[in-house]
Amino acid sequence: MSQRTRVLRVDPVSPEADAIAIAGRAIRAGGLVAFPTETVYGLGANALDEAAIAKIFAAKSRPASDPLIVHIARFEQLPQVAQAIPAGALELCRRFWPGPLTLVLKKAPRIPANLTASLNTVAVRMPNHEVALALLQAADVPIAAPSANLFSRPSPTCARHVIDDLADRVDVVLDGGNTPIGLESTIVSLVEDEPRILRPGGMSLESLREALPNLRYEPSYLADDVMAAPAPGAMLRHYSPRARVFLFSGADDAEVYAAMRAEIAAHERVGILASDTEAREFADSDVALERLGANADEAARHLFAALRSLDQQGVDCILARVPEKRGLGLALWDRLLRAAVGSLVEVQAAPGD
Ligand code: AMP
Ligand code: MG
Repeated sequence: MSQRTRVLRVDPVSPEADAIAIAGRAIRAGGLVAFPTETVYGLGANALDEAAIAKIFAAKSRPASDPLIVHIARFEQLPQVAQAIPAGALELCRRFWPGPLTLVLKKAPRIPANLTASLNTVAVRMPNHEVALALLQAADVPIAAPSANLFSRPSPTCARHVIDDLADRVDVVLDGGNTPIGLESTIVSLVEDEPRILRPGGMSLESLREALPNLRYEPSYLADDVMAAPAPGAMLRHYSPRARVFLFSGADDAEVYAAMRAEIAAHERVGILASDTEAREFADSDVALERLGANADEAARHLFAALRSLDQQGVDCILARVPEKRGLGLALWDRLLRAAVGSLVEVQAAPGD
């Protein structure tokens, strides 16, 4: 471990004041602090400090064209970040914040251009995690925080992932254990004619549509199973493990499993991301099996750790089955699809079935 990075254990429910004070001072001094949120770990810096923002991009090797999300702890901080906020947006904030919903709004003048990749809009949310909220209170400034991973690596869901990617590049890591949701926030743009989901995430489309019946979601990256030109920031090579990912779809379980077995036979060392049911199917196969659990919520919590673990085990490829696109399943599907970068295997039922 580096001498420069301080790793401080904190209780995720009632974080220790001394650790939070150290981290808050680091933010105010223009430093970088990695901290847990309910979605994934964030790599935070003072959102009003252009030089501190630049450090985030450098630490992650993140392209300057990929804007950051700003975090706030109190509704009164919103005008520091955004302006011309529509009444509907405030209603959404009241209903869903703190929570895994990021809103894209018109940017306030104080937000430096490098934070938003020179866009005139800004992404903002209030995280639902006591460590993140305590840090924001202690720093008393909005905090810009993308996920605390190296660019294009899976997002970190525990402090170990952050340290593996960013040791030496961050001043403080607040270790508050595993993040409860495990996938990033849902991003909704409110600067177009109609509200639109830019990225599915921890807040489900179904819950959001209760408040926003006209909420649009058109995944822009799928055209004939290959990624089309990505939306700003919605880059193709995201969430990528090092191994190639093959994503299997098809209604017939037996046919899908048979296709997966054929793929297993074609490679030296195969990793499988499996639900509990699928895990039973491959229990006797010579594969590295990562269990994602019994449902979409459990799979969301385990996905990124499982991708990292399979990479560490040095598998040649990773096989998974497409999840149902309900609840957190939609965000899971999005992350798996991006990890698969077009390697989708559509399994047709055999004739006569
Ligand atoms: P991360 O926090 O690492 O999950 O990345 C933040 C995500 O927010 C990126 O994918 C950005 O594309 C998205 N984002 C941030 N600001 C904006 C914005 N002004 N407009 C659209 N997307 C944004
Ligand atoms: Mg990220």
